[in-house]
Amino acid sequence: MKHRKSENFSEWYVEVVEEAGLAGYAPVKGTIYLLPYGYEIWELIRSHLDKRFRESGHRNAFLPVLIPESLLRKEAEHFKGFTPEVFWVTHSGDDPLGERLAVRPTSETLFYATFGGAIKSWRELPVLVNFWNSALRAEIKSTKPFIRTSEFLWQEGHTIHATREEAEEEVMRMLRIYREVIEEKLAIPVVAGYKSELEKFVGAVYTTTLEAVMPDGKVLQMATSHNLGQNFTIPFEVRYLGPDGKMHYAWSTSWGLSWRVIGAVIMVHGDDRGLRLPPEIAPIQVVIVPIHYKEEERALVLEKCREVARRLADAGIRVHLDDRTEYTPGWKFNEWELKGVPLRAEIGPKEVEGGRVTLARRDALTRVAVSDAELVESVRRLLDEIQRSLYESAKRFLLEHITDARSLEEFSRVLEEKGGFVRATYCGSKECEAAIKELTGATVRVIPFDPEPILSNCVYCGGEGKVTAYFGRAY
Ligand SMILES: [Zn+2]
Repeated sequence: MKHRKSENFSEWYVEVVEEAGLAGYAPVKGTIYLLPYGYEIWELIRSHLDKRFRESGHRNAFLPVLIPESLLRKEAEHFKGFTPEVFWVTHSGDDPLGERLAVRPTSETLFYATFGGAIKSWRELPVLVNFWNSALRAEIKSTKPFIRTSEFLWQEGHTIHATREEAEEEVMRMLRIYREVIEEKLAIPVVAGYKSELEKFVGAVYTTTLEAVMPDGKVLQMATSHNLGQNFTIPFEVRYLGPDGKMHYAWSTSWGLSWRVIGAVIMVHGDDRGLRLPPEIAPIQVVIVPIHYKEEERALVLEKCREVARRLADAGIRVHLDDRTEYTPGWKFNEWELKGVPLRAEIGPKEVEGGRVTLARRDALTRVAVSDAELVESVRRLLDEIQRSLYESAKRFLLEHITDARSLEEFSRVLEEKGGFVRATYCGSKECEAAIKELTGATVRVIPFDPEPILSNCVYCGGEGKVTAYFGRAY
């Protein structure tokens, strides 16, 4: 690694992405391609989410990538919000199309025109569907792998309900699921709450969000869950025949999480040696590196390596034996540290003779010898410890980066000197929120679900303080 996390954070980040073999820049500006190692991390995150989506009654389905312009226009506010970012298809071969086709920036409109249009009676509700796909939004600002790209992998969940209450419950249920996966699997602590009027999803009644602080002091939105009320079901005429024999407009939600959470994992857990992956999302949890110095020791060492690999794999641990002969053990250590593999098992003649395995932790860079008999148990315990320890150190960082400000001067000083969340009170008006953004570059990231104490008058206009929010400069 050429760059240091504490010195050139931005360059360090891109170096980790490329050198750890996660992703690279694709020919079209703002797009990236994923290498297998990067994609496998995404697949693990996806499987953790999928399991919970299914347990809560959701099923996966498919929608096409092209959306007719007329459909996208049906919900005016939604259309206006996305227009600057939409890629348009204007030709089919050499012939101009009669109507422009949008390349999916998000699928609400298509979902209501298809799934929504098929609903007849209350007996078919709720509709609980999820789509794993990619979405395209032209990025004019500078792009950053995983964090800001013109095409990104994500999942978008869409649901239709008979009542407002059911839709509201769904919004919170999905935010809870996101929180569990992000905190327990990605080991990243978040602050949960509502988005402000200015920051909410275009077309939503309200948006709930999970936000995390990155090591450079910027805040990253990790996942959002939206209550769409009847804002889409009315223009798309999603109605159902109720048990009362009358027609009713349905209620709906949508929720999404994208691969930017991989960017958060890199930023939050990485160090000067490269990536540090939480075991729950590590494609390889244990890498075995054989250490043999004499040719005659080779066979014995490799035999033990294979035996260890088999035992760990049988125990359901993701293990890889690096038996390449063209690289030295030292070279391999560096490579797997760069790739963030949580545990390295070193096996040489000493380990063979002593009936043990040397385990090196990627997070703490410590080593411990464990006996062959206790191998599986020790690996499981260490993986748990690594998972917990990564979360705890990120949690300490988060708590150290929530700072109260009672005046605009204090607000700006915290942002400049420390970053992270600035907890401050304002009058709740869009005007003050916009003015604060203009002046400081910070936006309302989260308004906590349980209102927090009023700290002062509005930090901007000095009027009555009504809302205490977490502000921050966002990615
Ligand atoms: Zn104000």
